Amino acid sequence: MTTEPSSDSLEGLLDSARHDYKALGSRGLSLDLTRGKPAPAQLDLSDELLSLPNGRYTSADGTDVRNYGGLQGLPELREIFAEVLGVPVGQLLAAGNSSLELMHDCLVHALLSVVPGAESRWVDQERIAFLCPVPGYDRHFSLCRRFGIDMIPVPMTDAGPDMDVVERLVAEDPAVKGIWCVPKYSNPDGVCYSDETVERLAGMRTAAPDFRIFWDNAYAVHHLTDERVEIADLLAACAASGNTDRVFVFGSTSKITAAGAGVAFFGSSPANVEWLLGNNSKRSIGPDKINQLRHVMFLRDADGVRAHMERQRALLQPKFEAVGRILDAELGGTGLAEWTSPKGGYFVTLETEEGCAKEVVRRAGEAGIVLTPAGATHPHGDDPRDAVIRIAPSYPTLEELEQAILGLTVCVRLVGYERRQG
Ligand code: PLP
Repeated sequence: MTTEPSSDSLEGLLDSARHDYKALGSRGLSLDLTRGKPAPAQLDLSDELLSLPNGRYTSADGTDVRNYGGLQGLPELREIFAEVLGVPVGQLLAAGNSSLELMHDCLVHALLSVVPGAESRWVDQERIAFLCPVPGYDRHFSLCRRFGIDMIPVPMTDAGPDMDVVERLVAEDPAVKGIWCVPKYSNPDGVCYSDETVERLAGMRTAAPDFRIFWDNAYAVHHLTDERVEIADLLAACAASGNTDRVFVFGSTSKITAAGAGVAFFGSSPANVEWLLGNNSKRSIGPDKINQLRHVMFLRDADGVRAHMERQRALLQPKFEAVGRILDAELGGTGLAEWTSPKGGYFVTLETEEGCAKEVVRRAGEAGIVLTPAGATHPHGDDPRDAVIRIAPSYPTLEELEQAILGLTVCVRLVGYERRQG
């Protein structure tokens, strides 16, 4: 518990925050904490990819990877990621370089062609809605917006979305066709879904027979501590509950190898995989199998993926530790903010007092520290409490990051104390 400072000491705290902010502004900083991109040093870890496949053009089954075909992706790469993503290899598809693209395509195909279990195309229905656990990933929300899908915010708990709310909403409204989930080291709050959450998602009664869980497992192997968090197998749980077609699993190597030149994966029930392949066959004669082969040669197997992720962690962990250390030192005990200490993933969530986040981001921007716009973690950019700020520590150097976080804490103090003064 922190005690409210007396107005005298509040005056002093505000003076010192103003003084620090002035000093911050005079430093001419130009720092960017916006997107969760891998740093150049992380990309360097996969440099060898660029010299592969080094004269080899055939996959294990003799396919010439330079040619058309192989819509489902190279079996030997799917084998590696079947283990990583917990999807049977026959139900896993290796595609292009972006899982977001796959999510986009699944939405478009569901709108324009009947998904297994549906009575009609989504586009033929009067209204479509998705549940959006908040805070969440802004690009999920952009996709909904793009296609006129209503977004219904659902609060996150430390075990995943509030399942009492989810169960009620999916049971009562057949227009609710889906939910966005980032089940492990969630973007942005680092939450890992509990076994109970996974069970309830698999077994809940939905008014829509064609309800889909968009299970975006973007951070499946992106650990930041010795504890490699495992989450329950939703695909198997859905099958066991008789809701076999309920889940679309997504993943990619974007934050394993090269963010712009990795491989994306889709896993689901046999019927859903057939549905997507059927749709994809109209749009492509096959994925970039040369890139898939070079990933097989580079990563070798699931243990190779894990070993590579340890090298990633060695670069990322000090940055996350620096963020925690500075936030603790500068804001600990002030009552001005709370923040997450994620065990994996790419983000730290800073929660200010209500009504402060936008102003903190604005003041930081004026001092040369660019942050993700406040509200981006909520549908339509609207965080009703105006409290959540997403911090992406990966891209800047450690030194830049330390400066940026220190500057951010000055802005939190300034805005928080100003607000308290009224
Ligand atoms: N899903 C989540 C939760 C992300 O945070 C990101 C990138 O930040 C992506 C998907 C993008 O994935 P990809 O690069 O495979 O398109």
